[in-house]
Amino acid sequence: MNINLISDTVTRPSEGMLEAMMMAEVGDDVFKADPTVNLLESRTAELFGKESALFFPSGSMANQTAIKLHTQPGEQLICDKYAHVYNYEGGGVSFNSGVSCKLVDGNRGMMTAEQVEASINPPDFYHSPLTTLVCVENTTNKGGGACWDFGELVRIKEVCSTNNLAYHLDGARLWNALVAKKESAQQYGELFDTISICFSKGLGCPVGSVLVGSKKLMDKALRVRKILGGGMRQAGYLAAAAIYALDHNRERLSEDHQKAFEIGQILEDLHYIKKVEPIETNIIIFEIDETEMTEIEFVDKLGEKGISIIGMGQGKLRIVTHLDYTDAMHTSLLSTLKNL
Ligand SMILES: *Cc1c(COP(=O)(O)O)cnc(C)c1O
Repeated sequence: MNINLISDTVTRPSEGMLEAMMMAEVGDDVFKADPTVNLLESRTAELFGKESALFFPSGSMANQTAIKLHTQPGEQLICDKYAHVYNYEGGGVSFNSGVSCKLVDGNRGMMTAEQVEASINPPDFYHSPLTTLVCVENTTNKGGGACWDFGELVRIKEVCSTNNLAYHLDGARLWNALVAKKESAQQYGELFDTISICFSKGLGCPVGSVLVGSKKLMDKALRVRKILGGGMRQAGYLAAAAIYALDHNRERLSEDHQKAFEIGQILEDLHYIKKVEPIETNIIIFEIDETEMTEIEFVDKLGEKGISIIGMGQGKLRIVTHLDYTDAMHTSLLSTLKNL
């Protein structure tokens, strides 16, 4: 049995999802004439209580578009040092928008309102870049799937309002946070100017992200998406997968969370594992005691048993549970770990 836990992006479309894709009614989305894309966009916008939404081929492109909408070249955004927009989008912040990042030394990828406020450059001090945007991520990827305290997000919103800053949420795994914290998409829609959400992570789609915001912003986003090369034609085949996922794959994320929690409990008991980060959703980050076993040895040992996990460097490892990680795989993994 091969068990792939390197990421929740390794899932393949289920039979039901494939069927929905095959049956999709499509048109040319560059002319806004694909009924299935239009339906996904209107349904997602409505879910978040936003005026408008736009379908993207990737979460990175949705984030990069949002950053472009909210900034001008030379300006600065504020984000945590772990942020995906800073670490894992190929330097797109500077490439696409000519913007720099003020990095905050937060906790598991999350900042406090005080830290955000202290990171704003005084707008009349023309020697430093003008701060115009705050980006947060929920759940945090590098922070180990941690969920924000909603109250803190509200406090950061107040800082943004007072200081005339735009507020963007990288919600690649927001679906996981909503289920774990029993929160609503609506309450996030009320807080943020723009939100990007992925369908290709926990929701199990092959491709696709959506950006939500005001009609005015999304009209501009349409142009930016075109410039970035993200205008797709009969994209309804992909949007159909996302619609299917909205209907079928959200609530079940709690099963991934439960499995992650159970894996974490076993890891805690292994003497050569130094630390397991608190598990809130589907990501488990843990540290090996490298005097006992190296990170590479541990990954190889599991690899020999058909189990793939990923090393993050400095003795840190990551396991991510997902839709294609079955109950049978889970039972097998737990017993393998116990007997390793
Ligand atoms: C996966 C991810 C994205 C988007 O990634 P793509 O591979 O471009 O779809 C953005 N932010 C976070 C936190 C992610 O985990």
